[in-house]
Amino acid sequence: MTGKELQKQLAWKFPNAAEEKPEQIPLAEEFCRGYKDFLDHGKTERECVSAAVDLLEKAGYHEIDFAGTYAPGDKVYKVNRGKSILITTFGWQPVKKGIRINGAHIDSPRLDLKPNPLYEKEEMVYFKTHYYGGLRKYQWATIPLAMHGVIIRKDGEKIELDLGEHPGDPVFCVTDLLPHLSAEQNERKLKEGIKGEELNIVTGSIPYVDAEIKEPVKLKILELLHERYGITERDFMRAEIEFVPACKASDVGFDRSMVGAYGQDDRVCAYAALMAEIECQLPPYTTVTVLTDKEEIGSQGNTGVDSNYLYDYIGYLADMEGADIKDVIAGTCCLSADVNVAYDPTFAQVSDPRNSCYMNHGCVLTKYTGSRGKSGASDASAEYMAKVIDIMEEAGVFWQIGEIGAVDVGGGGTIAKFIANLNIDVVDLGVPVLSMHSPFELTAKLDIYNTYKAFAAFYGKE
Ligand code: MN
Ligand code: MN
Repeated sequence: MTGKELQKQLAWKFPNAAEEKPEQIPLAEEFCRGYKDFLDHGKTERECVSAAVDLLEKAGYHEIDFAGTYAPGDKVYKVNRGKSILITTFGWQPVKKGIRINGAHIDSPRLDLKPNPLYEKEEMVYFKTHYYGGLRKYQWATIPLAMHGVIIRKDGEKIELDLGEHPGDPVFCVTDLLPHLSAEQNERKLKEGIKGEELNIVTGSIPYVDAEIKEPVKLKILELLHERYGITERDFMRAEIEFVPACKASDVGFDRSMVGAYGQDDRVCAYAALMAEIECQLPPYTTVTVLTDKEEIGSQGNTGVDSNYLYDYIGYLADMEGADIKDVIAGTCCLSADVNVAYDPTFAQVSDPRNSCYMNHGCVLTKYTGSRGKSGASDASAEYMAKVIDIMEEAGVFWQIGEIGAVDVGGGGTIAKFIANLNIDVVDLGVPVLSMHSPFELTAKLDIYNTYKAFAAFYGKE
């Protein structure tokens, strides 16, 4: 045997999907058309839930009735407080045999308004913000921002905002210094390039004309807000308002091989999971596709998976069949559908090249998360890794391994550890991302398509 032959037999390197199977390129292209549309209609967790419900209703899903009875193939969903959603296709096996969970998150880093946000300073009016999730603050200055969210007015009406997304809409922004005058600011550490209390959003500059009043520009803005939304300054305390990048999802590159957009962590996995869920017709095991909130701030809160909402839903599914939830849990396994950091040749020093994931090499299977000695990790077992790898290889999915950066450089977590705490086997599987948590994240279409294929294979596996 030649060395080359022996090497082929014994050594392993993950192939480039575009090289190995170029016929996937148009399929990925087609799949990502719907994905970009989903991104443009879902820039907050609430909007993602609405976009998901639209797609589900069109596909024949109905809101679940926990007092009802369902047959294999029946499709249902349950919305949790407008910010997370649980979706099920009943399998031909009883729920007692276990279920298949696929969980992605639909919250993304952004600028939230403080409860008392509006102020005037030197005839300019701003919103005070508190950033949500891990973001690099300097990236959020001098880009167009759109206003999203809800206000619950005193009369009970819920006002839904999406200003800055439609042609003719105004946009908003955070200012920064000009290079001519930034000598002192340039000496700051990058993480303080823009400080938290400097993330102030410009909202207006024209005064209400009345010499008698103080803060006339603020009054003018309040007048405009009252005209448009029927709100007063007090109503900001009855609201959740999120500022997000105002740009739309785009193809990136001459070859259009990538998607550039805000919020791809983790709406890319959410969309792939949703499509796999919708397309599964008669799965062996009952599915629970969960699109969850609050992952970016630790999954706490009653719309995050560190709460009981997922467990309670499984409990209802068990009760409907007269099964013991402990038996259901014992037979259940899960994919934690989340992104990982793609190897970036420009910033190669943060990654171990042998254990990184690469653009166009397929979806990324992340055995463990955490940081510094796997602290806070969910570390999947060899047995479960083997099971998921077998499912993907059987289905011809391009996949690769990855980790969240080189040892001791940093790290991160996903929802996996909270699922593992329920006594369920789980591993992270998702899409490699460049510029993660930035206003414009980058993914490869082939990786998105293969992630969808992996999720579909997971639900289809007997
Ligand atoms: Mn994520
Ligand atoms: Mn994230």
